[in-house]
Amino acid sequence: MKTRTENYADIRDAVRDLCTAFPDEYFRRKEAEQAYPEEFVQALTKAGWLAALIPQQYGGSGLGLAEASVIMEEINRCGGNSAACHGQMYNMGTLLRHGSEEQKQRYLPKIASGELRLQAMGVTEPTSGTDTTRIRTTAVKKGDRYLVNGQKVFISRVRHSDLMILLARTTPLAEVAKKSEGMSIFVVDLREAMRRGLTVKPIPNMLNQDTNELFFDDLEISAENLIGQEGKGFKYILDGLNAERTLIAAECIGDGHWFVDRVTAYANRRVVFGRPIGQNQGVQFPIAEAYIEIEAANLMRFEACRLFDAGQPCGAQANMAKHLAAKASWEAANACLQFHGGFGFANEYDVERKFRETRLYQVAPISTNLILAYVAEHLLGLPRSY
Ligand SMILES: Cc1cc2nc3c(=O)[nH]c(=O)nc-3n(C[C@H](O)[C@H](O)[C@H](O)COP(=O)(O)OP(=O)(O)OC[C@H]3O[C@@H](n4cnc5c(N)ncnc54)[C@H](O)[C@@H]3O)c2cc1C
Repeated sequence: MKTRTENYADIRDAVRDLCTAFPDEYFRRKEAEQAYPEEFVQALTKAGWLAALIPQQYGGSGLGLAEASVIMEEINRCGGNSAACHGQMYNMGTLLRHGSEEQKQRYLPKIASGELRLQAMGVTEPTSGTDTTRIRTTAVKKGDRYLVNGQKVFISRVRHSDLMILLARTTPLAEVAKKSEGMSIFVVDLREAMRRGLTVKPIPNMLNQDTNELFFDDLEISAENLIGQEGKGFKYILDGLNAERTLIAAECIGDGHWFVDRVTAYANRRVVFGRPIGQNQGVQFPIAEAYIEIEAANLMRFEACRLFDAGQPCGAQANMAKHLAAKASWEAANACLQFHGGFGFANEYDVERKFRETRLYQVAPISTNLILAYVAEHLLGLPRSY
């Protein structure tokens, strides 16, 4: 049977080919060492895959979101984790859409070649959580500079990035007409910032993912590093979310297929009570159900990509794709772990690693509840609940 997952065969084959050099043992070893998969990210960069969304005029390959999402999907389907590098693919979208021509010329070709990594985006704060308009990190203009003070939490890949997109309040909440106004985004040179007022504290966590607390203590950044207009940063961040959510939906679809492939193979070969466990309907049905949900999520993911690539609004489809795909991959993860029995808990099967990795997407980059609240309010016309 030919499914939509077989589209984009050239990209799929090439990414799979690259991934064969990074088998399960590679990621297992990296996790045991709590090390960043540097060689893997280098290989993807060198092959140009992470520059998929950068237009050709800035040195990228100028592909659409559909093609970019296939790249992320295949990485996860091969057993890797795109979370090590997906920021390099989509964080530059803020610069591309809202940066000046001078900023684009300065940064994008170097991001495309991998000379600069823009892997980090600093939005979340410990006190405001999902209520982003209440962030407390401030950037106060002093002549041709901004002075940044505050704190961020769970900011990923900071230690493997040269640049970071930072959201900070430039006008106090009490002084703006709408709470979504008065925030701005900056591109921050991380190496320089770490010498002049930025402290980075890694957060040990259940994944092999570099994520950090950031403390800003009178960090000076040049006014040249402001992206777009002052006060419009929240809108600019929102503009980038559709691409991020759709790419993460594709990663979950990749994970989902990985779980289904693994558990199907295991259920066919594991013999208990004189027959393969996969012969039992109690084993077959949860796997079949997960497969159906992955395929359904896949349709919504390609619909989000189609609209995005046509320049049409796709907030609803991007959110729904991320929701369906994260749910489907979690269903598949549960079935995979369950039917591996005790072996699912052994590191050498990689099921428990992928199980932990895919669980993140119920919470980040946006939690399940907040997507449901978005659908209730914006698609169904129910009263805003928060
Ligand atoms: C590994 C990891 C990497 C991350 N990387 C980044 C990064 O690079 N950059 C970045 O900026 N952030 C990052 N984050 C942060 C992530 O985006 C947030 O954790 C996520 O958006 C949820 O925010 P919170 O943790 O503050 O939860 P909270 O906002 O405190 O919410 C906690 C729970 O309450 C629920 N809840 C809250 N309000 C409501 C409501 N009104 N209705 C119903 N339910 C509600 C939520 O659904 C959630 O389950 C990362 C997080 C993790 C764990």
